[in-house]
Amino acid sequence: MLRFTKTVARKLAFVLLLSCLPLYGFTEIHGQAATSSYVTGIVKNSSLSVYSKASTSSTVLKKYTQGTLLKYKVYNSSWYQSAVYVNGKSFTCYIRVSDVETAVSTQKSLTGRTNSTTNVYSRASTSSSVLKSYAGGSVLKYKTFTSGWYQSTVYIKGKAVTCYIRKTNVENAASPQVSLTGVALNGSIKVYSKPTIYSAPIKSYSKGAVLKYKTFTSGWYQSTVYVNGVPKTAYIRKSDVEVKYYVKTSTLNVRAGSNTDSAVITAVKAGTALNVSGASGNWGKVTTSSGVSGWAYLPYLSRTAPTNGVRGQTIVIDPGHGGKDPGAKAVEKKLNLETALKLEAMLESKGANVIMTRSNDEYLTLSERVDVAEQYKPDAFISIHYNSSTSTSADGIDTFYYASNVNERELAECIQEELIKQTGLDDRGVQIGNFHVIRENKYPAILVELGFLSNPTELKIVSTSSYQTKAASAITKGLENYFNR
Ligand SMILES: [Zn+2]
Repeated sequence: MLRFTKTVARKLAFVLLLSCLPLYGFTEIHGQAATSSYVTGIVKNSSLSVYSKASTSSTVLKKYTQGTLLKYKVYNSSWYQSAVYVNGKSFTCYIRVSDVETAVSTQKSLTGRTNSTTNVYSRASTSSSVLKSYAGGSVLKYKTFTSGWYQSTVYIKGKAVTCYIRKTNVENAASPQVSLTGVALNGSIKVYSKPTIYSAPIKSYSKGAVLKYKTFTSGWYQSTVYVNGVPKTAYIRKSDVEVKYYVKTSTLNVRAGSNTDSAVITAVKAGTALNVSGASGNWGKVTTSSGVSGWAYLPYLSRTAPTNGVRGQTIVIDPGHGGKDPGAKAVEKKLNLETALKLEAMLESKGANVIMTRSNDEYLTLSERVDVAEQYKPDAFISIHYNSSTSTSADGIDTFYYASNVNERELAECIQEELIKQTGLDDRGVQIGNFHVIRENKYPAILVELGFLSNPTELKIVSTSSYQTKAASAITKGLENYFNR
């Protein structure tokens, strides 16, 4: 006769509990609060059994489907130990090491492009439910997870849900991204809102246009373009542009073969742009702008365009008002001209071609000022003003642009940043301004208001020669930063 002890009663209760278990459980293994010894992993195969002992001949406590997240810790080389809830009660259980794949302990954030239509799943398994589907050429953010899967978050009815993306569905973006300068190759190239030609084009460029962009994926570059002053991420097809390389050394020999014993065909100077169409070891097959081809030593070439600042750039300076139009507080026209003349001298000393709309106290209409831009097609047009307000407390500097040109906002930002840095006046920011000289201007044009003549304190400051020198120096530096960006 069976002695009905406490132990026997417990065993019997356990057997009864197991018999009521569902065969498949979707719930995560609970139990002890996660400690550092616990790791997270996924069920590798279509089904996984958890056992009551570290043996496949022991009782199966529960089964899990592929991709289910489990927490466990090392028991021995073949088994992990965990805990499973069975009818509200926690039991120690064992999982075969070969049945799970442990996720990376430190997840790395990545950005990538979907190669084709991509499903995101509720578990790291293609047999789990599809939470969302993305078209090819979508840009997704995700984290490293296992050898075959990335982990991400999707929003379903406004709620964040963890999801899984197959690694083979996406191509990771370059990290870090390298800045490049290239030239539009074809008649008219488009930049797209997504890295796919099926997305909406944001802008187009004509052949020969110089573009700046960053490495992204094997087929696409990433760039930023401004549409009505608003920066937008854009994508450029690699096949639409050609990357230029620039000579770093004072002279670079272009040789007939990929070694120093080969004859020198031609020599090119520092800063010269070359096309590189192939490489053999450290030697690149190059073509000069005049069409001469040969081999050059690649470490002497750089992908970054040389920084020349304002050298060789054409800049129109437009001192506001003049003659019968005195501007604000009767003194504006004089201060505008004084500051403009200082700016002219500084820019010329740095090798810029400077054109003044006026160099003395003469009156010009607004359209006459724009005509100067029309005639000289400048790389930048700078209109210089001082501000005025009915309030004597208004103060600070603002820079206006009209966004008719793609680079205007950048130009305004570069100049405003330096003005605030160098003069220490209040930053009123970069703004869109509906002023004739910048609105009607086809070239990158901005208008600076260099302080308030209606503010007695500021009037004193801005009337000094030292302030105007600072302002001119800041605009010069801003222009250099703009051209070197
Ligand atoms: Zn003015």
